[in-house]
Amino acid sequence: MYDSIVIGCGFAGAVVARELAEKGGQQVCLLEKRNHIGGNCYDVEDEHGILIHKYGPHIFHTNNERVFTYLSRFTEWYLFRHEVVANVHGEYLPIPFNLNTLVQVYGSEKAAELEAKLIEAYGAENKVPILKLKEHPDQDIAQIADFVYENVFLQYTLKQWGQKPEDIDPAVTARVPVNISRDNSYFADKYQGMPLEGYTPLFEKMLDYSGIKVELDTDAKSRLQLENGVIYFDNEIFDGNVIFTGPVDEFFNCCYGQLPYRSLDFVFEHHLVDSYQPKSVVNYTVSEDYTRITEFKKLTGQVAENQTTIVKEYPVAYDNAETQIPYYAINNPLNDALYQQYFELLKEYPKFYLLGRLAEYKYYNIDAIVDKALMLADQILQKGSL
Ligand code: FAD
Ligand code: UDP
Repeated sequence: MYDSIVIGCGFAGAVVARELAEKGGQQVCLLEKRNHIGGNCYDVEDEHGILIHKYGPHIFHTNNERVFTYLSRFTEWYLFRHEVVANVHGEYLPIPFNLNTLVQVYGSEKAAELEAKLIEAYGAENKVPILKLKEHPDQDIAQIADFVYENVFLQYTLKQWGQKPEDIDPAVTARVPVNISRDNSYFADKYQGMPLEGYTPLFEKMLDYSGIKVELDTDAKSRLQLENGVIYFDNEIFDGNVIFTGPVDEFFNCCYGQLPYRSLDFVFEHHLVDSYQPKSVVNYTVSEDYTRITEFKKLTGQVAENQTTIVKEYPVAYDNAETQIPYYAINNPLNDALYQQYFELLKEYPKFYLLGRLAEYKYYNIDAIVDKALMLADQILQKGSL
């Protein structure tokens, strides 16, 4: 009855389902274990009518024209340049650390000298990861690197990962490099912002297509079995494609052990004030147990007078698949090798595909996932037409 079964209704699953149904004319069954669509990008109005992101703040950003054009079929946009500040002992500093932050920390005279050194070392408008900046032999640059390391990265990273910046995958801290420019934007991408009506309506539109059937509250493990190279769906042999976007270790009952992840506790608060904080996102880089506070109406552009909803993010170890969500893969050679063991299990099943941040055990942003989903759908459809 179905040509493809897609597991998980985040961006990975939703995009691939739409493409297979629309371009391939396929009948697609989309299974989602939660009671809603959208995966971690799901947004909804809270009891006060404020649009919140249930699984943490999601700012869409991309340089990828194909992705932006594709998603623009399903939404209009509220575009802006996303800015973040860090609360450092009560003072708000622009993050990523940039030449404006330099002036705020060192005063304009000293900052002018330091700026000249940074530009000489790295070139104007360039970006330098903190761990690279720390390696520079010049004493003045080392002084800046120490300041940024101590006041921006060390405590935040210890909270987020339970490890120091130098002990985690360098690509993670390199996401927020020191910018040798006066640009306060958190991201460098051409397109930044929010779906105008929110993410959930975008998903509703994407999934509103004749060939797609969505089944919520359905754990794929209760419907799909893999045995001796054969896929069973509802106890019958299934010869179509399966695209899995959940955690691959859990699908195999953690037979090689659980893949390590970091999780988060989100604590939402509603306040009867017009404005809670100076920017939509404030990072707490030297104090508090939470990493950041997001004030939603400042992200979404929603008008709500004298009230606002915020969320605090408390990072925690992931040790209970029943009660927690695996938000961040902890990529290192050991964990990546464990992932590879699960990946190898699927060699026997050439029509079973892994796609997405969980299934691929990678730190992907939304745009990367949409891009990968579009490419996988192309690949599956091309294979089918041979
Ligand atoms: P998900 O959205 O996690 O979807 C996977 C779905 O599969 C889930 O709905 C899950 O319930 C379902 N599922 C899992 N197992 C099963 C099963 N056995 N049966 C049925 N269903 C199953 N990216 C950005 O670009 N900008 C941001 O600002 C940003 N902020 C983020 C903030 C946080 C706190 C986090 C954790 C991530 C953020 N991201 C951001 C990344 C973004 O969330 C991901 O890129 C995107 O959600 C990945 O989509 P996905 O479909 O791969 O995964
Ligand atoms: N980071 C930090 N201080 C900050 C912002 C980021 O130490 O003020 C580090 C931290 O290790 C974090 C990583 O940089 O996990 C990536 O930050 P990003 O904002 O991209 O994280 P995400 O939004 O994906 O959680």
